[in-house]
Amino acid sequence: MNVLAVGANPDDIEILCAGTLAAYAKQGDRVAMCYVTTGDKGSAELPAWKIAAIRREETEQSAAIIGADLYPIGLPDGEVEVVPGMRRKLVEIIRKVKPDVIITHHPADYMSDHTNTSRIVSDAGFWALAGGFEGDTEVTRQNRTAGEPAASPPVAIRPQVYFMDTLAGIGFVPEEYVDISDVMQLKMKMLSCHRSQITHMKNQACVDLLDFIKTSTRYRGYQCGVEYAEGFILERKFLTVRAKRTLP
Ligand SMILES: [Zn+2]
Repeated sequence: MNVLAVGANPDDIEILCAGTLAAYAKQGDRVAMCYVTTGDKGSAELPAWKIAAIRREETEQSAAIIGADLYPIGLPDGEVEVVPGMRRKLVEIIRKVKPDVIITHHPADYMSDHTNTSRIVSDAGFWALAGGFEGDTEVTRQNRTAGEPAASPPVAIRPQVYFMDTLAGIGFVPEEYVDISDVMQLKMKMLSCHRSQITHMKNQACVDLLDFIKTSTRYRGYQCGVEYAEGFILERKFLTVRAKRTLP
């Protein structure tokens, strides 16, 4: 299976679904990680270009831990909007990755980059299927291998979309759980790559990011009778529902 995780800001995927991605990778599935923004507002001290470069390196290190392909889109933090250009970018990435499953933010998560990413991904999953929807973007040009044609043919099936947990689980009642106990160390290792944000969250919000995520996943684990878990809700739309479970 092909799996695509789309997080608004660098580190969101690690915070909310890296255990599940590690479990997919462990069972032999191909995993891709897409970040919509550069994370350029992730420091109170460093200039935008510098923190963005640091965070790009952090995401590369994290993705390498599970052998995931990276698809950074490169918007500034706080500027994710539901516009046709963004839908096109996501359609191109979906056509490149051909995911069976996409994991992204819940539509009611805590801020606009997350909620707008959720909406864009949901719509793009449908339009990736539509024959008349054409285009090519810098992202796909960068990720295209030599000799591969530029055209982006529609995907054969509409990918399922799973919404990952909200930050601190606020307003989110999981419908499905993934037992990540066996891969918890990998999740924490991926999250630990985001050194700049571990410091930033401590300074800005007095939040210990590693403890926060360990506690959240332990809590979800208690809910389903395992040590650590991540929770999800399937987006139920025409052509996205399957007869068999696709989460690991
Ligand atoms: Zn975020």
